[in-house]
Amino acid sequence: MELLRTRADLARLAPLRSGGRLVLVPTMGALHAGHLSLVERAAALGPVVVSIFVNPTQFAPGEDFAHYPRDLEQDLERLRPLGPAAVFAPPVSEMYPHPAGAAVEPGPRADALCGARRPGHFRGVATVVVKLLNLVGPATAVFGRKDAQQCLVLDEVVRDLDLPVRLIDAPTLREPDGLAMSSRNRYLEGDDRRRATCLWRALRAAQRELEAGERGVVPLEELLALHLADADVVEYAEVRRVPDLSRPPRAEGRLLLAIAARVGPARLIDNLVLDVGPREVRAASLLEGGQP
Ligand code: AMP
Repeated sequence: MELLRTRADLARLAPLRSGGRLVLVPTMGALHAGHLSLVERAAALGPVVVSIFVNPTQFAPGEDFAHYPRDLEQDLERLRPLGPAAVFAPPVSEMYPHPAGAAVEPGPRADALCGARRPGHFRGVATVVVKLLNLVGPATAVFGRKDAQQCLVLDEVVRDLDLPVRLIDAPTLREPDGLAMSSRNRYLEGDDRRRATCLWRALRAAQRELEAGERGVVPLEELLALHLADADVVEYAEVRRVPDLSRPPRAEGRLLLAIAARVGPARLIDNLVLDVGPREVRAASLLEGGQP
C-alpha cells in the first residue's frame, strides 16, 4: 500500500491506470467500518486508491472543519488489511494551490435537502471530487448511499460534464441498533448516542407504513417527524423522488426518504432508498449498477 502525498507522487499510479480498472474511494478519513465496506466493494472491481482529505471548501463558516476528526496513522492501519494499492492523502496546499480559483457548479439536484441548508456545500463537494477524479484517473468511483444527495449530485456532474468515470453507490453500514455509521458519531456521548437512533426508527416506521399501503407524502412526512421527537432540531424529514429529488405528488416509484437532524453537538443524516410499487416496497440503489 503506497502512501501518496503530492501530485508528483500520483505519477506512480500510471501502471494501475493503464489497466483501465482503477477504482477510487474518496473519504475524509476517520475511517470506520462503513468506509471499509466501500473499499471492499471497490476491491471487487479493480485496484483501489483511497483518498483521505478533509476538504475545507465543503464546510461553511461555523461548521466543524477545524474539529473534524483526523488520524492518518489509524486510518492507514485500518486500510492495510484490505490491500488497497494506494492511499492519496494530500495536504490542503497541494489540493488548493490557488484557493480562490475555479470551481464546479453543481446542477439542480444540489438545491434541495442538505443543499438548501448548507450553502456552498455541494459546490465544494463537486469541486473536490472532480479534482480527485482528474488527479487519480479512475475508471470507477465508489460512494456511500448514506450521503444520498451527494451521490445524485455527483452523478449529475459526471453526466453533464461528460467525465469518463462510472459512479457506484454502496449500501449504508449501521451499528447493531440501526444508527448509520459516521465519523461524526464520535461527537455523540451519553444520552445523545441513544437519542441518535431516532433517525433510523423514523425511517423504518415510514417504510412499514408504505408496506401497509400508505401512499400519501404528507402523512409519511408527518410520521417521520413524529418519530424524531428525540432530536434537538429536525432540519428536514422528507420524501423525494430519485434521481431528480423533486417532491412527488404521491409516494410511488423510486423514492428517497431523507432526514437531517441535530442531536447534541452532532448533525446527523440518514435515508432509505425504496422502490414503491402498487403492492410491493423494495430496497433500491440510487445509481445504476449499485447493489440495493
Ligand atoms: P466521508 O469520509 O464521511 O466523506 O465519507 C466517505 C465515503 O464513505 C462517502 O461516500 C460516504 O457516503 C461513505 N460512508 C459514510 N458513512 C458510511 C456508512 N455508514 N456506510 C457506507 N458508506 C458510508
